[in-house]
Amino acid sequence: MSEEPKDTNVKCLLKKFSKPVYCGQIMRPTEDTYRHKGLRKKLADGIRKKGITDERILEAINKIPRHFFLDSAFDDVAYEDRAFPIGEGQTISQPYTVAYQTLLLQVKPFDKILEIGTGSVYQACVLAELGAQVYTIERQKKLFDTTREFSFLKKYPNIKFFYGDGYEGLPTYAPFDKILITAAAPEIPPKLLEQLKVGGMMVLPLGAGEVQQMKRVTRLERGAVKEEVFDNFSFVPMIEGKK
Ligand code: SAH
Repeated sequence: MSEEPKDTNVKCLLKKFSKPVYCGQIMRPTEDTYRHKGLRKKLADGIRKKGITDERILEAINKIPRHFFLDSAFDDVAYEDRAFPIGEGQTISQPYTVAYQTLLLQVKPFDKILEIGTGSVYQACVLAELGAQVYTIERQKKLFDTTREFSFLKKYPNIKFFYGDGYEGLPTYAPFDKILITAAAPEIPPKLLEQLKVGGMMVLPLGAGEVQQMKRVTRLERGAVKEEVFDNFSFVPMIEGKK
């Protein structure tokens, strides 16, 4: 703790430093070593073995240094296929879950995608790596502010960040080709459905309890929707309002 600057507004230092740098709330690692790269390849191979064989998605996971998205305390475990805490009671999703949701979304280059729940920004980077135009909303100001100081994100000018309530969506930027919810929604948010193009798809973990069903909802003509059900997952809840 003693190494942390007292001034919490201190700017994230340049990424040249090999030691972790203090970025707002967390100490981020800044070096991507051969060890990290090797572990990342193993992670991608493990996800392939679990049944996700889309090489573009696996390549994105292989490319993005997940340890950059976590506090340096997680450096040894960052490439385990698990969720980890990112502060404010929130988590970075399990890489398998990120790959799973991304697969269901059938991402194509230049797709305009709205993501609800920026969190660590890892999922948004996977979408951006696939060439999508990403609009991502976070309701927690502290997490939103942390992303501003995360210099790695300069690599992805195709991600736009918004502080707000995901239940409202982004009417000014609508309609979207795809919508991805990365928190457990008790119901399909009606305003989000309205912001989807006809023929567009929304992927969300649906359910109010501990376990949710992954759903893909396609918006059809004249207010009709098609719903498809996939595996069970456990996400942190989607909460109304900003914090
Ligand atoms: N996509 C993230 C997953 C983060 S966990 C990642 O890759 O790391 C879910 C996130 O959803 C949390 O950061 C939580 O604060 C946020 N969230 C929950 N309800 C929300 C809402 N109504 N609007 C926007 N974000 C919300």
